[in-house]
Amino acid sequence: MPLLLPPSVMSLDDILPQEPLLMMGAGPVPIPHKVSYANSIVINHLGETMNKVIEQVKAMGRYVFQTESEHVLGVAGPGSAAMEMAIANLVTPGERVLSICNGYFSRRMAEMATRVGGLVTVLEVPNFEFAAAAAVEEALKGGDYKVVTIVQGETSNTVFNRELEAITRLAHAQGCVAIVDAVCTLSTMPLEMDAWKVDAVITGGQKGLSSIPGVSLLALSEKAWRKIESRKHVLTHWCLDALLADNFWNKKSYHYTAPVSGVLALHEALRLVCEETLPKRFERHLVCSKALQNGIEAMGLELLVPEAARLNSVIGIKVPVGISADAVRSYMSRVHRVEISGSFGLEIVRIGQMGEQSRAHNLFRTLHALGASIQYAGAALDLPAGIAELEKGLAQESVTVA
Ligand SMILES: *Cc1c(COP(=O)(O)O)cnc(C)c1O
Repeated sequence: MPLLLPPSVMSLDDILPQEPLLMMGAGPVPIPHKVSYANSIVINHLGETMNKVIEQVKAMGRYVFQTESEHVLGVAGPGSAAMEMAIANLVTPGERVLSICNGYFSRRMAEMATRVGGLVTVLEVPNFEFAAAAAVEEALKGGDYKVVTIVQGETSNTVFNRELEAITRLAHAQGCVAIVDAVCTLSTMPLEMDAWKVDAVITGGQKGLSSIPGVSLLALSEKAWRKIESRKHVLTHWCLDALLADNFWNKKSYHYTAPVSGVLALHEALRLVCEETLPKRFERHLVCSKALQNGIEAMGLELLVPEAARLNSVIGIKVPVGISADAVRSYMSRVHRVEISGSFGLEIVRIGQMGEQSRAHNLFRTLHALGASIQYAGAALDLPAGIAELEKGLAQESVTVA
C-alpha cells in the first residue's frame, strides 16, 4: 500500500485575521502579554523549577479561592474537566445529589453526577431568577442528600445566584458537600470558599482569570478531601482521580505530564490577580460591568435579566425584534473586529466582563461596535447617548479601569 498523501492546508497566516479580534464574548477572553509569553515556554514538568512554579500557583490559588486548604489541584483540561474531577471524586455511586439548575452549565453538573452513578434530584430555578436559599432549604429537607451542586454565575443565560453563600452554608449544615462552579466568576466578584463553607470550587483558565483555555484549577476543602480519602470504590476516571493528581500537585511526583506552558500561563494570570488584589479587581469588574449595562440601556437596548438576578460577568442583551443576533455578531466581527457571543437558542447577544475585558478602552470599542452593528441591521438606537452614559459610569469612580 502506498502511504496516504499529506493534505493540502493553509498556513495559519492565511486563516487568522491580520490583527486579532477583540474577544468580548463569553470566553475565551483576551490575555495579558505576560500570560501569552509564559504560554510560549516549555520547561521540564518535574524538577526544581516546576516545583517552585507549582508551589506558587497553589499559594496564589489559595488567595484567589480564599481558602487555607492544602488541596488546590490543577487540571489539564477545560473548566468542564475540573467540573468532572469534582463530581467524579465527590459523588459516590448510589448517593443522593441535589443539583440546583439555572441553565446550561449548572445542568452539566447534574448530568455528570448522574453519569457517575449519583441519584440526582434537579431543583429547577425559574427563568431569569436566582436560586432562593429558602427553596433550597425546603428541597434539602426532602431527602438524604450528600452533595449539592450550584453555579455562581450561569454564563448561558446570564443569571447570578446572589444567595450562594446562604445556600452553601445550608448545604454544609445538612452535612452535604457543596460543589460550586465559579468558572466565569472567580476573581471577578466575591467568593470566599472557607467562610462560605464551600467544599469544591471549579474554575477554568479562559474566563475570570484571563488565562488560556485548557488548564483549570479545582480547590477542595479538608472535608471534601477526607471524603475522597475514605472512598471505597476505585474511580473509573484515571486522569481525573484526585488522589493521583495529588501526587503531582502536592507530593512532587508523577501523575501525567502537566501542560507546563499552560501552568506557566496560569501562574502569570494568578500573579496579576495577586498584584491587583481581589478588592480592587472586584471593584474594577463591578464598575465596568455596570457602566456598560447602563450604556447599553441608554442606547435603547434591553438587558435580558432583571437587575435582581443579573450577572455582571456576562451581560445578556436582547436584540430588537426583527433583527438577527447572528447577523449583528457577524457584522461586528467583520467590520469592527470585535467578537461577542450569541446564545443557546435565545435571540440575544452576550458580552463578557471577565478579566481583561473589563478595561475602559475595550468597553468603548465594544459598545460602539454593538450599537453601530445593530443600527446597520436596521434598528434605531441612540448611540451617542449610550457612549455618554458609559463615559459617565467609568468617570465617576475613583478606580483605575484603564
Ligand atoms: C465556560 C463555563 C464552563 C465550561 O468551561 P469549559 O472550559 O468550556 O469547559 C462551566 N461553567 C461555567 C459557569 C462557564 O461559564
